[in-house]
Amino acid sequence: MSKFLNSKYKSLEVYTPGEQPQDKKYIKLNTNESPYPPSKKVVEAVSVAEIENLRLYSDPECKRLRGAIAELYGVEAENVYLSNGSDDILNFAFMAFASDNSPAVFPEISYGFYKVFAELHGIPYKRIPLCEDFSISPSDYYNANGLVVIANPNAPTGLALTLSEVESIVASNPENVVLIDEAYVDFGAESAVALTKKYKNLLVVQTFSKSRSMAGARLGFAIADKGLIDDLNRIKYSTNPYNVNRLTLVAGEAAIKENGYYLENCKKVMDARAYAKAELEALGFLVLDSKANFLFAKSNRIGGEELYLKLKENGILVRHFKDEKIKDYNRITVGTKEDMRILVDTVKKLLEE
Ligand SMILES: *Cc1c(COP(=O)(O)O)cnc(C)c1O
Repeated sequence: MSKFLNSKYKSLEVYTPGEQPQDKKYIKLNTNESPYPPSKKVVEAVSVAEIENLRLYSDPECKRLRGAIAELYGVEAENVYLSNGSDDILNFAFMAFASDNSPAVFPEISYGFYKVFAELHGIPYKRIPLCEDFSISPSDYYNANGLVVIANPNAPTGLALTLSEVESIVASNPENVVLIDEAYVDFGAESAVALTKKYKNLLVVQTFSKSRSMAGARLGFAIADKGLIDDLNRIKYSTNPYNVNRLTLVAGEAAIKENGYYLENCKKVMDARAYAKAELEALGFLVLDSKANFLFAKSNRIGGEELYLKLKENGILVRHFKDEKIKDYNRITVGTKEDMRILVDTVKKLLEE
């Protein structure tokens, strides 16, 4: 830290992303990326011609891709906002919809970035404990008196609220924005997108990073009533109007056109998830009922951190969080069935040692 840094950022506890090691090849089950490559049309879309077009700025309105997403999700283009990864939207939402009189409210165990954004913007926040079984109790978020942020499915638990539970939260907060972070919704949970037509206070956020195999392209989107979308644009046009680059825009459009390919991949991941869950349970693990592309699991025989370290020695990366309440667990991204077979065999071997 230099002596020049604005003092308000000096005590900031930054977000720690999962490792992206460059030293050797791991089976990467630590950052919830897709094990499958982008679809054919995506590869073709990032063409030499488009690369030559990089001399030009990208379309600040992202018209074509917004149109494609609107069509797929049955909304209007004015209800769609695009960003350089969905983290950007979360950041903007904390800036736009929370304040001293309207604190942010989110689960105590959830995506680590929520707390970071609240602290970055000096917004007061309230973290609500999960239930004993790690589920979210919807009524804890009724009449919240501030910005409600819920990942559904939640991370790192993988547990999901039903659509009617989400609606009950949205309906009870007409004076607050309710942000539903659907980063993992394509792996078996119910999306709240359709509710955005009924509720002006609902902001649904999704990403191309997980189910659409484009984590490295950085593309996120929000769907909401035009009022909320206009608010996000207000901040975008006060920071970075060209927030999505040309290559990502064409790649995203191609991905939407091949949605079936990604749905197939999600199905494969869900099958591999069921397989891995059953195998780990047979080895004595407690595995939560995940609706995401990861499993949250603890062994009755080996500690969370020890398992993480031993798997790493054996070339498999998973995510371990040191937080007291979840330190016995590991979050294991679901890869291909073959990845899961190797994981299970390795765990078996480690338990026998
Ligand atoms: C991965 C993730 C995101 C962010 O994804 P981007 O890569 O920034 O689009 C947002 N929320 C949750 C809960 C996530 O797990």
